[in-house]
Amino acid sequence: MPSEFDIIRQYFVHDHGRDDVVLGIGDDAAVLSVPKAHQLVQSVDTLVAGVHFPLETSPQDIAHKALAVNLSDMAAMGAEPTWFTLALTLPDDNEDWLKAFSESLFALAKKHNVQLVGGDTTNGPLCISITVNGFVPEGKALTRNKAKVSDKVYVSGTLGDAALALAAWQGDCLLREESKTYLNERLNRPQPQLELGLLLRNYASACIDISDGLISDLKHIADSSDVAARITFENIPLSNDFKLNITDEALLLPLVLAGGDDYELCFTVPEEKQSEFEKLINEKNISVACIGEIEAGQGVRCLLNDKEIEIQGSGYEHFVD
Ligand code: ADP
Ligand code: MG
Repeated sequence: MPSEFDIIRQYFVHDHGRDDVVLGIGDDAAVLSVPKAHQLVQSVDTLVAGVHFPLETSPQDIAHKALAVNLSDMAAMGAEPTWFTLALTLPDDNEDWLKAFSESLFALAKKHNVQLVGGDTTNGPLCISITVNGFVPEGKALTRNKAKVSDKVYVSGTLGDAALALAAWQGDCLLREESKTYLNERLNRPQPQLELGLLLRNYASACIDISDGLISDLKHIADSSDVAARITFENIPLSNDFKLNITDEALLLPLVLAGGDDYELCFTVPEEKQSEFEKLINEKNISVACIGEIEAGQGVRCLLNDKEIEIQGSGYEHFVD
């Protein structure tokens, strides 16, 4: 049976060559160089088996999602991610599982040039906790609290895909065979919007990543900024696979407005920056859509066919029965 140290050496020591890592895995702590005139941005997210992912989820998907949701927080802050640590609680030392997990983890890490610099390995029910670090030039972090009246509300990508895949997995609907790969990837392999996040440093007044659902997450911007938001349902971007598979109209609004797990960005852009922002976004081929506007007041309103729709529930919240 491999020891804890064998596991770390075999599966997690992966020198990836960032020159700001003075000392990585193997000592009591990592030593890391902080660039001048920058601020450290740090976030942690934990995934618990059976709570945040079904027990039968593949190790590849678990690893990808555990890192991706953390990188998504960096994107939402406009930060460039650099390093992460991994606290891994394992029920056993299944080496096939560990190999698949670490390969998938390092594939995503490499894609975004983030290096694993330490962690902790313990025995117990499967749980993955990742702390990610990144940098922003001083004063440039994107926050939730600076949206102003008349700013435009945007989202990236398409919404509802991950929630639709989850609904199908839970048996609430059926997916067409040809859409399964795309929709399940949207749930299991979220792509952090890091390029967009960096670009938003110069344009967005507020930003959040959509993890709990559009209404719920946009409400965080509205509440923190002490403003209201009005969005138009018809302007929310939906994927073709999503539209093809929504046979039950009753699912449409909840999945798009309150479905979580998309890890797209929702952000506000001052009106005077809108045209320059859209021009740049087009040049870079990044997909975003303007879905509404910031108003005076409180809360989030959504219009459909020019009528305000009643929002039931604001998204997925832990500890709410
Ligand atoms: P300590 O007893 O000093 O806390 P550990 O035995 O927990 O050290 O870990 C030894 C080294 O391996 C440390 O550098 C730690 O950061 C690293 N490490 C432990 N578990 C992991 C892991 N799952 N992923 C990456 N690095 C890890
Ligand atoms: Mg330790």
